[in-house]
Amino acid sequence: MRCVVANWKMNLQSEEARAFCEDLLVHLAPEPQAELGIAPPFTLLSLVSGLVRPKGLHVFGQNGHAEDKGAFTGEISMPQLRDVGCSGVLLGHSERRQFFGETDEALAKKIKAAWQWDLLPLLCIGETLAQRDAGETLAVLGQQLSILSQTGPGPLWVAYEPVWAIGTGRRAEAPQVLEAHAFIRAELIRHGACADYEVPILYGGSVTPESFPELLNIPEVAGGLVGGASLDPHKFAALAKQAD
Ligand code: PEP
Repeated sequence: MRCVVANWKMNLQSEEARAFCEDLLVHLAPEPQAELGIAPPFTLLSLVSGLVRPKGLHVFGQNGHAEDKGAFTGEISMPQLRDVGCSGVLLGHSERRQFFGETDEALAKKIKAAWQWDLLPLLCIGETLAQRDAGETLAVLGQQLSILSQTGPGPLWVAYEPVWAIGTGRRAEAPQVLEAHAFIRAELIRHGACADYEVPILYGGSVTPESFPELLNIPEVAGGLVGGASLDPHKFAALAKQAD
């Protein structure tokens, strides 16, 4: 399975999102083989779902709360994501861990809540530069994946995103990606996550159409979670074609 997911972060407004989707759909192959997805801001979920879900693309929330409803001002629940047409939800993006105090404990609850509402979690993991320099990369990835021993198995996509490669233009080198993805696969197997489910491992961090073909040749790289380059529909369509 090959997958390419656009993370729009806190970008675009309605007319820009509409123009993006219309342009993208014109440039995609008629029946893309790769699984494609867009993670727009909450305000655009309904609009984007209406435009791309009929064409078979996934739409992901960028976060979701573990509770179904209640006094959580500023939060969005899994059933609310479902209600506006989402098929999945990004969880644990490094920007959420770094700026909004996302914890592994909360993420375990969020994964279970996503499954309860038939949403596909795309769990993002990755080390900071300080952790890499201290030789802690695999320990950090192992810790972030250890929540799977609490959740048990279910439908899941994982994105390896070295924090130092996100939005910096500094992509991880092939041997670094190879080592991390092989380790993540071994951990997923150890936690029993792959017994009944195909769990693709995406790479994220300054992916562009120039760098993607090399990444796709690395064992266990099933695709990409793409920020900056995904704001250009032509670049996103190019990445989708490369993944096909
Ligand atoms: C991301 O937002 O997950 C990401 C990988 O961003 P960028 O492609 O801009 O590095």
